[in-house]
Amino acid sequence: MRNDQVLNLLDLSKLKDLEKMLMRDIDETHMCEPEEECTIDTPKCPQMQLKAALLKVRGLINPVHKGINYHRTEGGNVSERVFAEEWERENERTSMRFDHGILEILLAPSNRVRPFDTKIERISQRDASVAATVVQWLGTSCGLGFLEECERLCEKERKLALENSEVVKSNRRIKNG
Ligand SMILES: [Zn+2]
Repeated sequence: MRNDQVLNLLDLSKLKDLEKMLMRDIDETHMCEPEEECTIDTPKCPQMQLKAALLKVRGLINPVHKGINYHRTEGGNVSERVFAEEWERENERTSMRFDHGILEILLAPSNRVRPFDTKIERISQRDASVAATVVQWLGTSCGLGFLEECERLCEKERKLALENSEVVKSNRRIKNG
């Protein structure tokens, strides 16, 4: 199912109940022996089967990663569209990120995300809308100006740090020589 398909509230609350049940069940079941060929795509033991189910359920209740000004991306606004689309892609659940979107990982209590971590809370639609709005804003002329200014300041600080380290090195040479 695609993100932009709308679930009605009744379905959503049923799915959330199901998610909670699965998370509890996963915590109560044991992992199989690691040498078994048991993966999320070919689950063999009960725990991996539950994890595969949890992933499917979470996919259904994933929020839409579109900002409140998303309509602006449809009017030929190239950089806003690129920022918005890339952000959406970053938030797709891929196996590279252990099936979590980037915002989900950023908002996780610890940055150490383990594969199929059941402790990670699902993010709300509000979380997703706020973040997507900010990221799309980076593609506006104000946003691009902001990025440019930040890059300029970073460059300045890097140069300063480099100069300082050279001063330290030459001071050391004077002292030792
Ligand atoms: Zn297993």
